[in-house]
Amino acid sequence: MKNQASCLCGSVQWEITAEPFNAFNCHCKMCRKAHGSAFGTYWFVKPEQFNWLSDTDTIMHYRSSHLLTRSFCGTCGSVVPYPSGQKDHWVVPGGCHDDGKKSDCHVFAAHSAPWYDITGDLPRHDDYPDYTGMKRVEEEPLEPGPEGIVRGSCLCGTVKYQISEPFKLVQNCHCHRCRKARAAAHATNGFTSMDGVKFVLGEECLAYYKVPDAKYFMQVFCKTCGSKMPRLDPDRGIAVIPFGGLDDDPEAKPVRHIYVDYMAKWYEITDDLPVFNEEPTS
Ligand SMILES: [Zn+2]
Ligand SMILES: [Zn+2]
Ligand SMILES: [Zn+2]
Repeated sequence: MKNQASCLCGSVQWEITAEPFNAFNCHCKMCRKAHGSAFGTYWFVKPEQFNWLSDTDTIMHYRSSHLLTRSFCGTCGSVVPYPSGQKDHWVVPGGCHDDGKKSDCHVFAAHSAPWYDITGDLPRHDDYPDYTGMKRVEEEPLEPGPEGIVRGSCLCGTVKYQISEPFKLVQNCHCHRCRKARAAAHATNGFTSMDGVKFVLGEECLAYYKVPDAKYFMQVFCKTCGSKMPRLDPDRGIAVIPFGGLDDDPEAKPVRHIYVDYMAKWYEITDDLPVFNEEPTS
């Protein structure tokens, strides 16, 4: 078997040659920030079952804890595979793959985002399951912030932003570009006005990647850690916020799934939100 994938820009390509022996949806805060999404889906394969199919010179590395160094494409920001810091295996972001193994379980379910409700009957673990032998990293508690402000930040802390306007819409997008950009099952994006978002730290450390044949699609990410950051879009007069970067509860939740015709074959929607084949115009 060969299952091939790439990052959003296509610079980084890889394959796995066996069914992953584990597939987790990880809801920890670090994964949410790295992907800008509700959770990262990780497939674990043995080193001999993983091959690069391209150059790897655009890959950047960020050491997110003493246990793990994460990797992303420095051109487009997609999370790309990396060796596990704890075990002799490779960690592959399932979101870049159209087809493959369904997730076995949710991990760090107790840490899931306040704006995301886990549904469905996959087992939920508050930590790594015991059989993996993997250790967790403690999360830093967050100091209370100013009233009426929703704070967000990247994994490395270089970029921080504040949202002061309500979200007009929050939705889960399953399109091909969102899946690759977030290297996740789907993106969850919130939309607010341009002047509702202010970068308070590190705006000069943002990187931008626009998909060449797309009208609007652009990924904004931290150059150091690859976390997905807000995108201000003057053409449409809106700001698009990848929800995984939020530190505070936005008190808004996704209201629908869009582009479900393009959903990853390994993923299943288990909530009862409305689904749309494309993006509704109203
Ligand atoms: Zn790329
Ligand atoms: Zn995680
Ligand atoms: Zn960063």
